[in-house]
Amino acid sequence: MAQGQQNRVDYDECDRHVDYSLCMSDVIVIGGGLAGLAASVALAQAGVKVTLLESRPRLGGRASSFEDAATGELIDNCQHVAMGCCTNFRHFCRVTGLAPFFRDEEQLTFVGPPDPSGRQPPEFCRFAATPFISAPFHLGRALWGLGYLSLRDKFAIARGLFSLRMAKPLTNDRTSFAEWLGRQRQPTNAIEYFWNVVLVSALSESLDRISLAAGRKVFVDGFLTNREGWKVSLPTVPLDELYSGTLSQWLAAHDVEVRLKTGVERLVMDDGAISSVELRNGERLAARQFVLAVTQQRALSLLPESIRTTPQLAAIERLETAPIASVHLWFDRPITLLPHAVLVGRLSQWVFNRSRGEGRGARGENASMPVPRSSPLAPRPFYYQVVISNAREMAERPQSDVVADVVAELKAIWPWAADAKLLHSRVIVEHHAVFSPLPRSEELRPPQQSPIENLQLAGDWTRTGWPATMEGAVRSGFLAAENVLTKIGRPAKWLQPDLQ
Ligand SMILES: Cc1cc2nc3c(=O)[nH]c(=O)nc-3n(C[C@H](O)[C@H](O)[C@H](O)COP(=O)(O)OP(=O)(O)OC[C@H]3O[C@@H](n4cnc5c(N)ncnc54)[C@H](O)[C@@H]3O)c2cc1C
Repeated sequence: MAQGQQNRVDYDECDRHVDYSLCMSDVIVIGGGLAGLAASVALAQAGVKVTLLESRPRLGGRASSFEDAATGELIDNCQHVAMGCCTNFRHFCRVTGLAPFFRDEEQLTFVGPPDPSGRQPPEFCRFAATPFISAPFHLGRALWGLGYLSLRDKFAIARGLFSLRMAKPLTNDRTSFAEWLGRQRQPTNAIEYFWNVVLVSALSESLDRISLAAGRKVFVDGFLTNREGWKVSLPTVPLDELYSGTLSQWLAAHDVEVRLKTGVERLVMDDGAISSVELRNGERLAARQFVLAVTQQRALSLLPESIRTTPQLAAIERLETAPIASVHLWFDRPITLLPHAVLVGRLSQWVFNRSRGEGRGARGENASMPVPRSSPLAPRPFYYQVVISNAREMAERPQSDVVADVVAELKAIWPWAADAKLLHSRVIVEHHAVFSPLPRSEELRPPQQSPIENLQLAGDWTRTGWPATMEGAVRSGFLAAENVLTKIGRPAKWLQPDLQ
């Protein structure tokens, strides 16, 4: 018997408003993205009977894959990256058996900006922690090694990082990061080639649209607190294999009923409490507790009219969003054997090598080394994903132009790939990829406990202290589950501590 069944919560009575014949589960979770999945996992581990409703045919929400018709390959909507400081996402992966499908990178490669004259090749800079040096100094040598930054830039960056670390955690997020950089008298190149590079990839916004609090968090949690915080963790299989595959099996083994292609039309309220959900097909499902884990754009439309207008919930509408684009490229030969690279001062921001073999051969090799034509990978198509965050401008351009520019950038960086033939390409723009961490946006994010006692909100947009990330989504799910568990008399701690 599954663990969940052994510990099933035995309610004395359902709400008097709930039709007993419909009372099929203790908790209904709406939305099968990471927030809904995390809530379901935490509840199921406590023996609570969960029904998870997801409108799409697969789990994972914004972190998911689809089949590319031309290649027949399962490709991710966009490369998703976690960091060492994502303690809750990592815990979620450990609990559910997903952890072996991620690999931690011990080093990154930064490719310096293009030489304006076009004569010099770009600089490849290895970025890794110095062994045995503790935080916050572990990345000092790596910063020093970014040869495309001047001495003045590096000292200014070190000074800026020091001042971020010394500042108290900011509750007041009225200042933009751009304003703060101005006050810090950071040089233009330091802004363009360091602060901008890190924050645009992490938060997908321009520096004037990032609050100082959100920007500070990225640097303090990721780079300054713990030696492990900065490490990038990458899935080694398509996201769908993680969430619709391994995780689905975990949920089934823990007695979670997952209903895909099951869109919720609205939450039904009776006498001040949610009594059931009405599905798009008209069916009604009742439960004692509800977790609404859809995006902020959808959440309001599912809620009863009477509570949509409460100040706490109405504020959600003012959360703005930012787009992220991914350019998927299949070549007839390798462009690089590097597993990934950060491209500085270009339209393309990150390139990920998603070819089978995933660039593992490049470890320890000189990053700028040409790829031999006789590479054992050569007969296979070589698949690369280029990620462009804060993609507002490029989202307006014809996709063929974007592909041409990105391919030209890659060939300029790796000139021996000049003859590589592009076999197939695809551009995916997620227009509402993440909420924008604008100054004052924190006050628009509601806590997980909604104004209705038996309704929890979850999603990266709820109040987690984190930006829109897989970590933020998992945190929100854990917090919502903790609230439910307390209410049903089975309190349990799910939220994991930050790295110290
Ligand atoms: C292009 C892109 C790149 C990203 N890159 C990264 C990255 O590298 N690292 C990182 O940490 N984060 C990244 N993110 C952010 C990350 O994907 C999200 O923060 C996270 O997945 C949000 O999870 P969620 O559960 O809050 O929301 P969602 O994933 O949006 O889940 C909501 C779910 O609710 C379902 N739903 C909606 N309406 C209904 C309904 N009426 N009935 C039933 N179900 C419904 C949806 O289908 C969806 O599955 C990226 C996001 C995008 C879009």
